[in-house]
Amino acid sequence: MSGERMLRAVPTRRSVAASPRRICEAAGCFEVTREGKPYCPGHVTLHPYVREVLANLEGERNEVARVAREGSRVVDPEGTTAQELLLTLTRGPRTVERLSRELRLPVRAVRGYLEALQRLRQVRIGRTARGSTTAWRLSS
Ligand SMILES: [Zn+2]
Repeated sequence: MSGERMLRAVPTRRSVAASPRRICEAAGCFEVTREGKPYCPGHVTLHPYVREVLANLEGERNEVARVAREGSRVVDPEGTTAQELLLTLTRGPRTVERLSRELRLPVRAVRGYLEALQRLRQVRIGRTARGSTTAWRLSS
């Protein structure tokens, strides 16, 4: 280790090769991180930004499951899923089945979101000539 500078005075299990390298900030972890990041790949979920993203993803998954179970009244119209649906419909009308495929959402959940957004006059729900339920965006 001669001639090498350590960024932090922590004991290391492996030697620190170059001075700009950082040691993982997780308690008890002495892995060298990549590209000067605060955490090693094994502890990246401790990063505040990653925690926030994961919490949001879990919140959205929970909401989708609730909407599929309980219907449109539990929809958060400002949430990521409702906003994704609106964004998709700006590209043109879609049937419920197509929205379900494109957004990887259960059909029951898509119906719940569309009903909530229709109440807010952001979408209209109708039927295609072949009888499928379809939705289109209303200009706000
Ligand atoms: Zn680590």
